[in-house]
Amino acid sequence: MTHIVTRLCLRDTACVDVCPVECMVLGKPEEEWPWLYIDPDTCIDCGACVPECPYEAIFPEEEVPFDYEAPAGVWIANTKELLPDGAAFEGDVDGHDVKLLNAKQLSGGEILDLTEDIPPNYDFFSEGPGYDALD
Ligand code: SF4
Repeated sequence: MTHIVTRLCLRDTACVDVCPVECMVLGKPEEEWPWLYIDPDTCIDCGACVPECPYEAIFPEEEVPFDYEAPAGVWIANTKELLPDGAAFEGDVDGHDVKLLNAKQLSGGEILDLTEDIPPNYDFFSEGPGYDALD
């Protein structure tokens, strides 16, 4: 099992600093990828990253919601392919400066299946996008 960073991630990266086993990595190439990934083979499920995220984007894998109801004004980020109506945004979100290549602010009430963000996390460390670019 592991923890999962979902599309609610706006790359604040506070989580990276608290992870005791340094298993959180920015997507690669970093300038193109919207969020972070957690190495499932290294994560010890300590949960330290969860309260650090100002956007509540991180969940234990078994608790990732398939019926997340978006609060009004929440932001999501994803690749252009998966979020075609997103746009670049740079500015303040909930008191934190963010710089996003492709994101969208929701009006609220949308139901999101965040479990769709689980396979890409595993793929990232095996054969998925960005794998070849891993250091
Ligand atoms: Fe790191 Fe713990 Fe978060 Fe896993 S749950 S990514 S070990 S801080």
